[in-house]
Amino acid sequence: MVRPTRLQDILYHDWLLPQEARSVRSEIRRFVDEEVMPEADNLNTCIEDAAAFPRRLFCRMAEAGLFGVPFGVECGGRGLEYPLCAATVTIEELAYASDGLAAIYDDHALLPGAALLHGSRDVRRRYLEPLISGSSIACMAITEPHAGSDLRADTIHTHAVRDADTYVVNGRKRFITNAPVGDFMTTLFVIDGAMAMLVVDLHASGITVGPPDHKTGNRVQLTADVWLEDVRVPCGNLLGEIGKGLHIALAALTWGRIVIGASGVGMAQAALDECVHFMQRREMYGGTLGDLQYWQLRLAERATQISNARDMCYKAALLYDRGSRKPEPEMAMAKYYGTQVAGDMARDAVQVFGGLGYVTRLGADGSTYRVEQIYRDCKVAEIYEGANEVQKRVIARSLLGSEYLS
Ligand SMILES: Cc1cc2nc3c(=O)[nH]c(=O)nc-3n(C[C@H](O)[C@H](O)[C@H](O)COP(=O)(O)OP(=O)(O)OC[C@H]3O[C@@H](n4cnc5c(N)ncnc54)[C@H](O)[C@@H]3O)c2cc1C
Repeated sequence: MVRPTRLQDILYHDWLLPQEARSVRSEIRRFVDEEVMPEADNLNTCIEDAAAFPRRLFCRMAEAGLFGVPFGVECGGRGLEYPLCAATVTIEELAYASDGLAAIYDDHALLPGAALLHGSRDVRRRYLEPLISGSSIACMAITEPHAGSDLRADTIHTHAVRDADTYVVNGRKRFITNAPVGDFMTTLFVIDGAMAMLVVDLHASGITVGPPDHKTGNRVQLTADVWLEDVRVPCGNLLGEIGKGLHIALAALTWGRIVIGASGVGMAQAALDECVHFMQRREMYGGTLGDLQYWQLRLAERATQISNARDMCYKAALLYDRGSRKPEPEMAMAKYYGTQVAGDMARDAVQVFGGLGYVTRLGADGSTYRVEQIYRDCKVAEIYEGANEVQKRVIARSLLGSEYLS
């Protein structure tokens, strides 16, 4: 099968990115072309089941050092000068082929990894190093049935009491990515009315992981509820201090929001490339679909938006890596705009493909269509890691001041 041309290389020249991140992009592009593309259809259309977790690919990502991209050498990472820029292009390139796989990476390496940086040296040795080497699978557990966007000490029901040198934890988490196959989860909980973050071993007594959720898209990203019933966790597994749990979660989500914006860019770019490829070949009215000015202009608009979204993600990542200041509102702009562009582009892409854009698999010959997969995958990026309305509130806070919006 002839793959569409990567129009990013023609339209966008990565001039914002440091050379280091450009090299990481070339490396990940090669990895995706060789290792992910041949399996992408399965990843994007599988039915959620623990057996669907792509263990071989996960191990290959570990062997290729992908999980070390955001981290320093002291814990087994790459020690890059621009780690978030590199992680941003990593997610973008993975999402080009499979947003579900990009989400596995994000919810394994980035979010729990960022939280673990707040742990003691011993915690980092026991959890962060295995995360980076791929010998453990990590999860980030923030959401609960009654608390998603609105995270406060009185909305979070997962709670702990201290008993000698352990915390005894009870509660329930929802939509936890990687939980059906996971080894541990960095967990937001409440103790004595204050929020805190703890590493919980998923093989501990008192843990029950529910069956995987069946979702519209991102099929290979397995999510499930996790019940905690009198789970004993060593006090040494506390990340940071009691009272700093939300701060740690939001710090991890600073990485998360920028890379989710980039996942939108990756999906939008893939949909654009597919459209151009298809429009040049689909014959109609004595010419091709590409001859129709309506679609020429529409794709020109989308290409411009994708370029803008990509700039916003890199700008936020660069600000973060240079340590100049917290990239707010840039990270919120990158997340909301990058994921919105993905949704807009995906809707157009399905339209361009006509009926073929709407089939998961064509009965006659078994063919599948990337644009249909992207259409299903992109929606969740507008919801998770801070719904886009929450991002707009963050932007509004920068405009009006925090006295207007908490
Ligand atoms: C596939 C998938 C994977 C996930 N993985 C994880 C994971 O690994 N770990 C984890 O902890 N969680 C995970 N989540 C949960 C995800 O982060 C939450 O779904 C998200 O934060 C939204 O919370 P909610 O679903 O409870 O929706 P709610 O908080 O109930 O929000 C519903 C809607 O209300 C609107 N809204 C919310 N706040 C505002 C506002 N301030 N202004 C205007 N409108 C607003 C938004 O439109 C929002 O979509 C995952 C979810 C999915 C679907």
